Amino acid sequence: MPVTSSDLYPVSRLAAVQEATAKAGLDALLLTPGPDLRYVSGYDAKPLERLTCLVVPAAAEPYMMVPRLELPAAEASPASRLGLEFVAWDETDDPYRIAADRLGPAGRVGLADRMWAMSSLRFREVLPDAEQVLAGTVLRELRMRKSPGEVAALREAGAAIDAVHRRVPEFLRAGRTEREVARDIAEAILASGHETVDFVIVASGPNGASPHHDVSDRVIREGKPVVVDIGGQLHNGYCSDSTRNYCVGEPPAGYAAYFEVLRRAQEAACAAVRPGVSCESIDAAAREVIAEAGYGDYFVHRTGHGIGIETHEEPYIVAGNGEAMEPGFAFSVEPGIYLPGSHGARIEDILVCTGTGGERLNDSPRDLVII
Ligand code: ZN
Ligand code: ZN
Ligand code: ZN
Repeated sequence: MPVTSSDLYPVSRLAAVQEATAKAGLDALLLTPGPDLRYVSGYDAKPLERLTCLVVPAAAEPYMMVPRLELPAAEASPASRLGLEFVAWDETDDPYRIAADRLGPAGRVGLADRMWAMSSLRFREVLPDAEQVLAGTVLRELRMRKSPGEVAALREAGAAIDAVHRRVPEFLRAGRTEREVARDIAEAILASGHETVDFVIVASGPNGASPHHDVSDRVIREGKPVVVDIGGQLHNGYCSDSTRNYCVGEPPAGYAAYFEVLRRAQEAACAAVRPGVSCESIDAAAREVIAEAGYGDYFVHRTGHGIGIETHEEPYIVAGNGEAMEPGFAFSVEPGIYLPGSHGARIEDILVCTGTGGERLNDSPRDLVII
């Protein structure tokens, strides 16, 4: 059964956020359009130059500043279930001033992590005594710990992107360009139930050695491995992200040896997931396998990133992150081996930490898919 928006954006969340705001010693959160606002209210507001801002005071009623012409959209959004006041402002009003006057004196405010500088600087003007910190310092604690509804949404996203990977052999043909293949994949991402295509990486031959290669006009050739890393966002806000490896015909000499190392590394990192272990120990589990096989210098990025209503969010699976895994953490495990000038490979699954270990939310074939 598909998850509903009340599962994903429960009305109770606003009170939890308010409590966390108070606990963190902040006077208010100021949430402009973006993932923080959506997480707290369910409202997927458009980022515009006109201010939309959910103000969550630590100790007073929350309210949402809304441009008058956006009011119908705000009222039609899940935010209308929260029972908060929409403060509609007119074209000649100063919404920052109105928001500040209602809030009163504030010593510390949390700004949405993705607030535009034009808004953060205006808030500095109207709240000159308020120290500005990231709302993420409060919200990360909530956003990292996915509810069962959120896990279900990520599972739905995982199944949708798996279905796209299963179709990649239809699109990937010798003689076509990366761009042509990517266009078909993008269409398949939408057809699979995603609302938006976030990225389509089709990296053939030497392009596969660049982890964030996008696409190019390079032509797919027989015997040249292709890294395909794709993701999108479901209508409900939750994201997918999965990488698989393909080759038209047999891969070149030497490829199988390091691909096997990569497969073992990814497996080791997934097996290392359980409550209580540090995020960096999961990175280390993958890195050790790759380093021991002599490919340490060719694994040039962290092992993974958290995922939810953003493709990249906390927790990051990286050396230096001692944060302990908890049930509900959702993140990618995506080690890669990149041989500059030749080719590369990456295997990426989304996992969720359960009470006892890690559950993969992707299950399309992880071995090299030979077409
Ligand atoms: Zn990435
Ligand atoms: Zn990723
Ligand atoms: Zn990816």
